[in-house]
Amino acid sequence: MDPKLIIVSNRLPIHLEKRESDWMSSPSSGGLVSALDPLKQEMKFLWIGWAGAAVPENEQPSVREMFNRSSAYQPVFLSNEEVEKFYNGFSNSVLWPLFHYFPERVDFSLPFWDEYKKGNEKFAAVVLDACKDDTLVWVHDYHLLLLPKLLREARPKLRIGFFLHIPFPSSELYRLLPVRRELLEGVLGSDLIGFQTHDYARYFAVTCSRILGLEIHPTELRYGDRKILYGTYPIGIDPKIFGKEIDRKRESPLRTELNERYSSVKLVLGVDRSDYSKGLPHKLRGFERFLELHPEWKGKVVLLQVAVPSRTDVREYQRQKDELDQLVGRINGRFGAPGYTPIQYFVRDFSFEELCALYERADVLLVTSIRDGMNLVCLEYSVCQRKRHGVLVLSEFAGAARSLSGALLINPWETQGVANAIHQALAMEEPERAKRAAENYQYAKTFSAKGWATRFLGDLRTKVISIISETEDLRAHFLNLKIDYVRAAKRFILLDYDGTLVPFAMDPKDAKPPKELLAILGRLSGNPKNLVYVISGRTTEDLDKWFGQSQTGLAAEHGMFLRKMGSGEWKTLTSLVTEWKEQVAKILKDHADRIPGSFVEEKKTGLAWHYRAVNEKFGEWQALELKIHLEETLTNLPVTVMQANKVVEVRPVGINKGLLIRHIWEEVDTTSSFVLAMGDDQSDEEMFEALPPTTWTCRVGVAPTRARFNLRRSDEVLEILNELSQLT
Ligand code: UDP
Repeated sequence: MDPKLIIVSNRLPIHLEKRESDWMSSPSSGGLVSALDPLKQEMKFLWIGWAGAAVPENEQPSVREMFNRSSAYQPVFLSNEEVEKFYNGFSNSVLWPLFHYFPERVDFSLPFWDEYKKGNEKFAAVVLDACKDDTLVWVHDYHLLLLPKLLREARPKLRIGFFLHIPFPSSELYRLLPVRRELLEGVLGSDLIGFQTHDYARYFAVTCSRILGLEIHPTELRYGDRKILYGTYPIGIDPKIFGKEIDRKRESPLRTELNERYSSVKLVLGVDRSDYSKGLPHKLRGFERFLELHPEWKGKVVLLQVAVPSRTDVREYQRQKDELDQLVGRINGRFGAPGYTPIQYFVRDFSFEELCALYERADVLLVTSIRDGMNLVCLEYSVCQRKRHGVLVLSEFAGAARSLSGALLINPWETQGVANAIHQALAMEEPERAKRAAENYQYAKTFSAKGWATRFLGDLRTKVISIISETEDLRAHFLNLKIDYVRAAKRFILLDYDGTLVPFAMDPKDAKPPKELLAILGRLSGNPKNLVYVISGRTTEDLDKWFGQSQTGLAAEHGMFLRKMGSGEWKTLTSLVTEWKEQVAKILKDHADRIPGSFVEEKKTGLAWHYRAVNEKFGEWQALELKIHLEETLTNLPVTVMQANKVVEVRPVGINKGLLIRHIWEEVDTTSSFVLAMGDDQSDEEMFEALPPTTWTCRVGVAPTRARFNLRRSDEVLEILNELSQLT
């Protein structure tokens, strides 16, 4: 099989078991299967995942063969020990609790990180074996956070999507993870990263900025030489299968029992995996308070709670079971009576038909998750209640709360609020119930699982432009550069100053241009075919002092001021707004006072905090902290914050080297021209981006860049410029 799409998830959607001497597989259901099933008609795909059972090594070939013959599944084989450490260990005892805001349940000393890495490597090996460069690979969920990077390293051109089904926590919580960098770098191997809600997407982007210092934009992140898209893709369900099941009105023992046993009571339903993130104790306490406050409902309402056994082998889950047993016993003891048990608690799996019967009969669905990526149960209930108009009481901490406008929203920590909402739901009149149920149904029907998968894959296929550029050593292309230069009727040479034409000096005042550089620039500028500009972040005074006598064009303060070639006059390109400076100067000055070796430079347009002389690691960390602080507090001011080589700079919006380039550009015919642009830091990236893609752009120093070429040091720049300056 040569698949166009590979889906990778922790588990394959099957049950695998050994009967006598043969392995047998049967399909299993789940959100992802129903989301992807309809896609099969549109494109061939291969699903890679753990087989769900430990298959001895000598039997693996026959199991693989069985899958190959009968389905589009490719198994990853894991031993019981690997499952224990990779799945129960790092995935479910570290990542799951932390991402659901339960840091106290994480054992950070767990030695499972290595197994998590190895687990991801095993998946990578199977995927790499099955894919080609043009295959789309869609990786699912928190078990496989390292997989995108592993795939990217082996196949740089692969198009990789990643979807996180669970919440992404706020950066303050995420940074507790000892392996926080490694995990982020792992998932950043992707081209497109999807989340259930805007919150999770934003937390992720902010975390990337805080921990890795990435440049973030509303829909993309810049990571090295790559652009990574991220966005919100709330998952849905397959509304048709639930609708059909309800319309069949089939007779079943459970339906009969529901009709007979609960004929005279209102039914509040809970359907949750038995997981601490679902807030089951909060639900029980809310129900208890409701019975306390509303004794008139005693005997007339039952909470039927389905608690699906889940990850029973993880210690934390056993702890919760004891707490729940006690709570149920206490509440039933307090409010029960002969023939009336207020809470009926079922610890077992229900079949699809049984679940639909419960959904259809329940007057209220009560969801009290502490955190929940989405919560499909409430979408399923919304479809099953399209005719009876049951009321949904939903935790605001479930992803679905962002979408189901007909729900009564609750904070599960506010017991009184939960109790009030239960009462409000039970007492609600039909017209309001109908209106709310219709809104929820409309959402669940429209934003289906199929739509979710189609939208994600559509974006992965069409929107991704992942590699910004692949750089090569400019010296290896020097001959071609010279040919282009000699042939061109007009040449633009755009040069950054510090770090590009002169090496970085500890004190900026020491970075005077050496005689040799002035001579080279003199020769280049003296050639009538050439337009030469030194484009710097320096002030006009600095540039005048050093280049005042030369013909070279000059741009100061990142393009705020321009002195054309041969002219002695500075022109201001944008109007100056400087009211913000006083406030920002205070922040920068305080920062500089606390960090010895750093200082603030005041320019006409902007302010800069320099930290060349600060210990490298500490300086970088403090620069990142300062940048984030400024970005978050200056949002209402017309300024931008930029971190470049050993400097954090605040300057008015609308001033950057990119805009300057566009300004110079307007005056010349660029079609038959040669353009060479060289620079060493972030401000130069704006210049590279503004230039046509065929330009000779060169980044100085080893760093991810949008430039096409690189050189390591300024002496290599001078060598190249020197040779060019000898040509006519
Ligand atoms: N479910 C099930 N059997 C049960 C109870 C629930 O198959 O006995 C299904 C339910 O229909 C839903 C899923 O389990 O599709 C639960 O998904 P949800 O997003 O609500 O929570 P998760 O378990 O993924 O945290």
